[in-house]
Amino acid sequence: MKLSRYFLPTLKETPSDAQIASHRLMLRAGLIRQSAAGIYTWLPLGLRVLKNIETIVREEQGKAGAVELLMPTLQSADLWRESGRYDDYGAEMLRIKDRGDRDLLYGPTNEELITDIFRGSVKSYKDLPLNLYHIQWKFRDEIRPRFGVMRGREFLMKDAYSFDLDREGARRAYNKMFAAYLRTFDRMGLKAIPMAADTGPIGGDMSHEFLILAETGESEVFCHRTLLDLPAPPDGLDYDSDLSAIVDERTALYAATDEMHDQSAFEAQVAEADRISARGIEVGHIFFFGTKYSEAMGATVQGPEGKLIPVEMGSYGIGVSRLAGALIEANHDKDGIIWPASVAPFDVGLVNLKPGDAATSAKCDDLYEQLKTAGIEVLCDDTDERAGAKFSRMDLIGLPHQLIVGPRGLEKNTVELKDRRTGERQELSPEAAINFLTSQKERA
Ligand code: ATP
Ligand code: MG
Repeated sequence: MKLSRYFLPTLKETPSDAQIASHRLMLRAGLIRQSAAGIYTWLPLGLRVLKNIETIVREEQGKAGAVELLMPTLQSADLWRESGRYDDYGAEMLRIKDRGDRDLLYGPTNEELITDIFRGSVKSYKDLPLNLYHIQWKFRDEIRPRFGVMRGREFLMKDAYSFDLDREGARRAYNKMFAAYLRTFDRMGLKAIPMAADTGPIGGDMSHEFLILAETGESEVFCHRTLLDLPAPPDGLDYDSDLSAIVDERTALYAATDEMHDQSAFEAQVAEADRISARGIEVGHIFFFGTKYSEAMGATVQGPEGKLIPVEMGSYGIGVSRLAGALIEANHDKDGIIWPASVAPFDVGLVNLKPGDAATSAKCDDLYEQLKTAGIEVLCDDTDERAGAKFSRMDLIGLPHQLIVGPRGLEKNTVELKDRRTGERQELSPEAAINFLTSQKERA
């Protein structure tokens, strides 16, 4: 992509109403633009990040056996009356009337709708287990939308729903998602801490929140220090015993009691030196709630003996749009964002220091084509702004590598390669730079 042909409306001034780094940086780097309280446009650069996050989420859901569909944002109120949540959900639900005076709502979550889809099509235990998910916008009329996309009113969520014949099957589905979540966040370079949690308005028996450590997080995290050192589970775990070992091992590292989110119990059992007690951002939340919705809404299957059995269900959310903010909270410095390679909007920023100089521009075009051919996503700053302005914009938008091309270097047949995270610069030949970037891309 050539910057002169792109739409990257960065801001010079720090927006005064943005309280945390990720919100400020998302506005300044031209990733999002607010359109109403808690409602955002995703500008081209931000959209690329959002799509990269989605891709990782989608791949890991697929590997865990979940099947993608797409449910609408608008839902009929009648379904929610069946579960009893139309009245219970409260003011966070955006209620809408159509021209025929029928009650609709903008979905804050999809347990009712997926249960309706399930009961309409699945009749036999032979079709289980089943896990269906979608990545769709949700609306919750939060009292205090803030921190940009971290607590928006309209936000993008991945939500999966599992259906099983018995509790054992449902627990296995839950454990599979637990492991898939650890892998998903790990691929984004994030250390997610699973904490046993309250089930809230979703309801149910068992639940874990996945939290990223950050001072600006809205949740409290306490866990054993060793939890931070555990690697993500390997790909392809499928045995019940392996899956439950993963969940047990991580869950055991808050404290040994059932009251894992009870801070005083935690402090009695974990030596002070081993305690992590910090703030975190909730990026995912999984629930096992059994037959809460299947009983209320008549989602039954015929069991092996012919009896009708209400299915055991779980639901599994990931805050896709919140993750864009959380990633920045975890990866920035005074100059701007530092994207982890797996979610970066482009792999490389190619900086043309002198677009007026024919030889420099020819070299840039050549490098640009070579990078594209190698499958490397490149944003070329071909504008005629000052070098200083180009450098600070590249630092602000945080692409992992910067390839800087100017007439002085080219006289010696060199270009400069800068690593955004370490700030390290190396001078090398254009060929060596391409080779280096290609090898980095292959490793990722
Ligand atoms: P929170 O406790 O932060 O309000 P929640 O428990 O209400 O979240 P869930 O119903 O568990 O949220 O939704 C699943 C995921 O969706 C959350 O883990 C979070 O990452 C994301 N999410 C929830 N509410 C918002 C929001 N207002 N803006 C952005 N993301 C959100
Ligand atoms: Mg939650």
